[in-house]
Amino acid sequence: ARTLRIGLIPGDGIGREVIPAGQRVLESLPSSLNLKFSFVNLDAGFDTFQRTGTALPDKTVDTLKKECDGALFGAVSSPSTKVAGYSSPIVALRKKLDLYANVRPVKTTVGSTSGDPIDLVIVRENTEDLYVKEERTHEGPNGKVAEAIKRISESASTRISTIAGEIALRRQKIRAAAPATATRDQSMVTITHKSNVLSQTDGLFREAARKALAAERFSSVHVEEQIVDSMVYKLFRQPEYYDVIVAPNLYGDILSDGAAALVGSLGLVPSANVGDGFAIGEPCHGSAPDIEGKGVANPIATLRSVALMLEFLGEEIAAAKIYTAVDANLDEAKFLSPDMGGKATTQQVLDDVLKRL
Ligand code: NAD
Ligand code: MN
Repeated sequence: ARTLRIGLIPGDGIGREVIPAGQRVLESLPSSLNLKFSFVNLDAGFDTFQRTGTALPDKTVDTLKKECDGALFGAVSSPSTKVAGYSSPIVALRKKLDLYANVRPVKTTVGSTSGDPIDLVIVRENTEDLYVKEERTHEGPNGKVAEAIKRISESASTRISTIAGEIALRRQKIRAAAPATATRDQSMVTITHKSNVLSQTDGLFREAARKALAAERFSSVHVEEQIVDSMVYKLFRQPEYYDVIVAPNLYGDILSDGAAALVGSLGLVPSANVGDGFAIGEPCHGSAPDIEGKGVANPIATLRSVALMLEFLGEEIAAAKIYTAVDANLDEAKFLSPDMGGKATTQQVLDDVLKRL
């Protein structure tokens, strides 16, 4: 049996309610998968900051680097007014572990939607583009002028496109393992850019992506490209069209929040922060102070994040089992949490999913 060591970072608020659900689903995978897990609890977040003076203790980073195969991150609270010395631990973690891809699947199920089910994933480059934060302001002849650097490199564009291609291949495998929930036969990657205007920066992204995805091992994946603004239009008109979307940092940020709005509740949307040989699963929602401690947080975003992490650790079959169980829970709609219009508690949703594993 393969044993995976998973770091658990619940963080603040409902992070502490949903991460244990993620742990339970891993512990409950069928033994036929030959997979074992060991867990280590790690601190990060605003509570940690208030107790220790740092939001991301070195011990958390060291343990992840030295001992762990992957991790689950819940959510952290960020004070709305700036607190001296506090900065987001997940942003720091992405840097320290070089997690250069942010992966966000957005999915509806047959039963939970009146139209065609949506099943897409946005693969966002996470290290460059306008987010290098090289800004400056100077005095021009007609007042202030501010500028920012948009940096696109061939290497970062190539590695993010390669990950997108790998995800497309994996989705082929996951669909084959769970044909009942499959929404298409052939995987597709859509390259996002605005190279008609930004011919050098976005032009380089487009060129590197085209080249990376033309590799022999992606020959079963259909590759196309789209200008980002017309993509937004189509994403809202016809979301079921898309499969894998690869984008530079800024477009990816905007597209992924917009796409999450297509599925109703934040409590459904997972993400993963991915580097070479490491992945952190993370629900897209925050610490939800309004429902904290009530036991009603929707665990599904976390359960899907667990599956996503498993995908990146090479365990597609285990991931497919979790996706199928979650989809069945949503389709039957007997145990839905309040954000989905139901009455079930976190525990009841979890139990229903576990029963289906
Ligand atoms: P939020 O995601 O915490 O909550 C927004 C709304 O969605 C709330 O009404 C909440 O109850 C609901 N919601 C979120 N997740 C849910 C779930 N799993 N089940 C049921 N309902 C759910 O966003 P916010 O209220 O803007 O922020 C609250 C705190 O979280 C802030 O301190 C913010 O900085 C932080 N935050 C953290 C992250 C992160 O850790 N990645 C992301 C967003 C916000
Ligand atoms: Mn964002």
